[in-house]
Amino acid sequence: MSDAESNTRQSRLDPDKVSRASLSPRRVGERCGAAPGAYRPSVDPGRCEGKADCVAVCPHDVFEIGRIDDSVYRALPLRARFKVWAHGKKTAHIPHADACQACGLCVAACPENAITLVCAD
Ligand code: SF4
Repeated sequence: MSDAESNTRQSRLDPDKVSRASLSPRRVGERCGAAPGAYRPSVDPGRCEGKADCVAVCPHDVFEIGRIDDSVYRALPLRARFKVWAHGKKTAHIPHADACQACGLCVAACPENAITLVCAD
């Protein structure tokens, strides 16, 4: 990781949210002991409201918040589509899933319980 990328990563972290998530009983995973890519986060698009707590706690810059893909949005049940629409159709994307080391902070930090960790194999 370059210095510029490292600085960007540091600027996105929220120390208070990291601290709360690290102490949460909802925290799962291997506390960054897993090899990169052994696990990956999975986001439930019907639950995610794009609040970016995952972005604020992930030490490996796995997440980005963006607009939900139209095909994913259309496949949601009506109630979930309304919820996603009401939150501006924002959702968490996982562009760097291979960097995940299973610290479990995103699972604990997500206010919508939208994130799970899954074994990659
Ligand atoms: S468990 Fe979540 S917060 Fe931790 S490295 Fe993986 S994606 Fe990032």
